[in-house]
Amino acid sequence: MSIFEQDLEQQEANYQPLSPVSFLQRAATVRPQQLAVVHGERRYNYAQFWQRSRQLASALNRRGIGRGDCVAIMACNTPEMLEAHNAVPLIGAVLNSLNTRLDAATLAFILEHGDARLLISDREFSPIVKEALALLGRPLPVIDIDDVLAEGGELIGDMDYEAFLRSGADTQPTAGITDEWQAISLLYTSGTTGNPKGCVYHHRGAYLNALGNMSAMGVTHASRYLWTLPMFHCDGWTFTWGVTAAMGTHVCLRKVDPALIFQSIEAEDVTHMCGAPIVLNMLANSPAELHRRASRDVELATGGAAPPSSVIEAMEGIGFKVTHLYGLTETYGPATICLPQDDWQELKIEQRSARMARQGVHYVTVENAAIMQADSMERVPSDGNTIGELMIRGNTVMKGYLKNPTATAEAFKGGWFHTGDLGVMHDDGYIEIKDRAKDIIISGGENISTLEIEEVLFRHPAILEAAVVAMPHETWGESPCAFVTLHKPGGADEKEIIAYCRDHMAHFKVPKRIVFGPLPKTSTGKIQKYTLREQAADNH
Ligand code: ADP
Repeated sequence: MSIFEQDLEQQEANYQPLSPVSFLQRAATVRPQQLAVVHGERRYNYAQFWQRSRQLASALNRRGIGRGDCVAIMACNTPEMLEAHNAVPLIGAVLNSLNTRLDAATLAFILEHGDARLLISDREFSPIVKEALALLGRPLPVIDIDDVLAEGGELIGDMDYEAFLRSGADTQPTAGITDEWQAISLLYTSGTTGNPKGCVYHHRGAYLNALGNMSAMGVTHASRYLWTLPMFHCDGWTFTWGVTAAMGTHVCLRKVDPALIFQSIEAEDVTHMCGAPIVLNMLANSPAELHRRASRDVELATGGAAPPSSVIEAMEGIGFKVTHLYGLTETYGPATICLPQDDWQELKIEQRSARMARQGVHYVTVENAAIMQADSMERVPSDGNTIGELMIRGNTVMKGYLKNPTATAEAFKGGWFHTGDLGVMHDDGYIEIKDRAKDIIISGGENISTLEIEEVLFRHPAILEAAVVAMPHETWGESPCAFVTLHKPGGADEKEIIAYCRDHMAHFKVPKRIVFGPLPKTSTGKIQKYTLREQAADNH
């Protein structure tokens, strides 16, 4: 045994389980008066935020909920959601945030699969929650969030949230965290095929990713973070805990609505926010008279789908500074960042936004990210051209899929998490995603990246949104078919768009068909490419 291992044991003084719950406890001590949470007229400082979270923890305890029990929550981005993110893990229970756009059958499946013991639910969702509870077929206690800003909905629960809080003691609850590997939350992937999979997060990963976000986005106690990203999505990419770690201010928002977003930006002098590219596109294309600015440009993190560089540019023109992140539910949200190099500043905006549209390098809190051939697990050359699968390893990869050892083993094969995304490695070490494995088009043996074609289509002045999918082709096996939404109906025709594509890409990549109309979206706002693929196959 080395001298450095002798008599130097891990013990309480030098080894504590990492848990993001410790951030709130610290903030309440260090900056008790600092504004922690803003929601309409409601304002809580860190002392109050901690007190309310403690009371919720105690109330849950008194209801018999403790270590290893699952508490589900169906809520908008409101203070209750933030409190649940601290209270539930504090007693060692597991928080299951539900995607509020899911249908009743999927909600019932999740409540059953995750073995929820209690549901905290915003009144606005009572119609769908009632339906889900009927399908669940077993009693489940419900606590109502009766938010004054909710749009309707009845109270269906056993108790109101505020009364529930009052039923808890304002004392330090029994610490439920003894091991950083303990489960902290359960989040379901959208399940585009079959039932969704439940990703289980641990305290250690949530702690690290929260700090990773803080450092990636430069969040400080002077930051005012606007909640445009749903907190149910990867626990708000762990910003739920990250903003608290920084002791910044959480500015709540129930709805992603351009007018409301711009009003909040101005009124609360917002410094940071996150959103999927679809949200950016919505803001960039909203009427100019709605646009408001904060005292300086808002740091905006985007990810969840590839942001077209034209969208990044448009946002930079209206008061945002965009950072591009990539990740999955399995990686607590962000795992890579397109870290701008100093000399990119000198590039022309189009060149800079093309660099920024790459997914980048691994987070400081991620061990590694690489592009590999999935069968051999060998890295592809850094030539910006050879396609492989993006693999990630580190401490911010989920524990695994709940009650699904086969899928877990499959995902972690060879010591890396297989993302299912195909991409290339550039010579500067930056990763660029070309497609999801199931979306890439194989035409005459050549790979065609649908993202690359979409990138061009988004630059066409008449096009608001675009999605490209594979369509069966007699000669080539598959060929690209584009679905587009125009700013104005009749703003461009098929011939014109195809001609535009021929001017901007290799001819074999040019879509053979252009279909006009609205694009179907998933519950997380992603375009449902599988539906479009079916449509393309039916109509070709
Ligand atoms: P779901 O799998 O349910 O759609 P996720 O949020 O886990 O929900 O989606 C992760 C997927 O989103 C990734 O595998 C990738 O395909 C896509 N994605 C996320 N961020 C980016 C990005 N910055 N660029 C391109 N694709 C992205």
